[in-house]
Amino acid sequence: MGDIVDSAVRSRMMSGIKGKNTKPELQVRQYLHRHGFRYSLHRRDLPGRPDLTLAKRGAVVFVHGCFWHSHVGCRLAAVPATRPEFWKQKLGANVERDRRNLEDIRKAGWRVAIVWECALRGSPGAALAGLANFLKSRAAFAEFALDQEPKME
Ligand SMILES: [Zn+2]
Repeated sequence: MGDIVDSAVRSRMMSGIKGKNTKPELQVRQYLHRHGFRYSLHRRDLPGRPDLTLAKRGAVVFVHGCFWHSHVGCRLAAVPATRPEFWKQKLGANVERDRRNLEDIRKAGWRVAIVWECALRGSPGAALAGLANFLKSRAAFAEFALDQEPKME
């Protein structure tokens, strides 16, 4: 099992995906704004500091970089060939933190959507339309990823 992403791509992924205001995040923000949704950004008072909070709709949106959030089964989430133990530990801690945050914010009564980076690269139109539908619905949870049926509950 090698590193399927070359090092140039890898460094771009790492520089681009960590942190706030990433390209996928901006894509989601622009789309929602254009479609009349209003939101606040990175609210510190909520678990996991969601990328977007739509208070009126009782919903938050997390836009997850597939590498940093270890998207299961996703080729963008391949662990680097160098220092694999370091990465496994680091990324494992991220996954654990995400899990806790998701649990906490849902317990607090928020509806949650997770939009994976790969969905925005692969078929952005479908993912974004699905997200808008979720926000207008009363569903409690939705998840959008490339090559996966959108999950909504
Ligand atoms: Zn992914």
